[in-house]
Amino acid sequence: MSNKRFTLALHGGAGAKRGHDYSVEIAHMRGLIEAGRERLAAGAGALDVVVETVAALEASGLYIAGKGASPNADGEYELDASLMDGATSRAGSVAALQGFASPIRAARAVMDQTPHVMLAGEGAMAFARAQGLETISDPETYYTRAGAFEDNAPPGGLPTGTVGCVALDQDGRLAAATSTAGVFGKLPGRVGDSPIIGAGAWADGWAAVSCTGQGEYFIRTAVGAQIAHRIRFGGQGLDEAAACAIQGVADLGGHGGLVSVDRDGNVAMPFASSGLKRAALMPDGTILAEAF
Ligand code: ASP
Repeated sequence: MSNKRFTLALHGGAGAKRGHDYSVEIAHMRGLIEAGRERLAAGAGALDVVVETVAALEASGLYIAGKGASPNADGEYELDASLMDGATSRAGSVAALQGFASPIRAARAVMDQTPHVMLAGEGAMAFARAQGLETISDPETYYTRAGAFEDNAPPGGLPTGTVGCVALDQDGRLAAATSTAGVFGKLPGRVGDSPIIGAGAWADGWAAVSCTGQGEYFIRTAVGAQIAHRIRFGGQGLDEAAACAIQGVADLGGHGGLVSVDRDGNVAMPFASSGLKRAALMPDGTILAEAF
């Protein structure tokens, strides 16, 4: 049954440098919400819309994911991404991927072309190569190190940045996608929450969630699945469920934020960090796009 109600929300990472002019990012995020709205209005599926939106965020070089990536402590670029289709509970993920332009497209291929959920490191790269996904010839000239200036972490925390998108389509299907270069200066081989289904991304029949922030805390509190389960098993509304989950991250000393939508088309985008780059098609039809 078509519910004809659709929505989407995206983020460009937790934290922002105070006083910095983010007008380019805000205009870019608004444009992506407009494009997503158009596609959903024309009947596109939530999964396709979140993948295309995250691929565009990756390709922009404006955020710390895809082309905007920053290197790890050894100067290598290891990227993570995942997605989940709430209608089928299928999921795909890549971790510590090197040399490919779009980690989210690699994650989609893992979901569509293998019996697995997650591929990491060398195996993920061999798979992406076999799939013919776009490669990067020279990391030093390709990556923009977007946000390397941001220094957005609270004392003791690591600066962060990620992109993500969640959507509800006209057929009531929810989907989530998240892509990142991880936290700045991470150890080689470190994997954050972004490729962990249930932590940095989650979608089921109740809610879709994409997270950003210091991923260790989002893994330890299973933020994505927690929000949907609070709704499904705890009877909470999306606002309350999302706020409680972010509070759990803050209670452990972590920082970050998330975007989420539920099956009724509600949107919640809470954060416990210095800010959040975020945009959404709100239930009243207006577009919110902001970075602070
Ligand atoms: N959550 C990501 C990670 O820990 C980083 C971020 O969102 O900025 O890898």
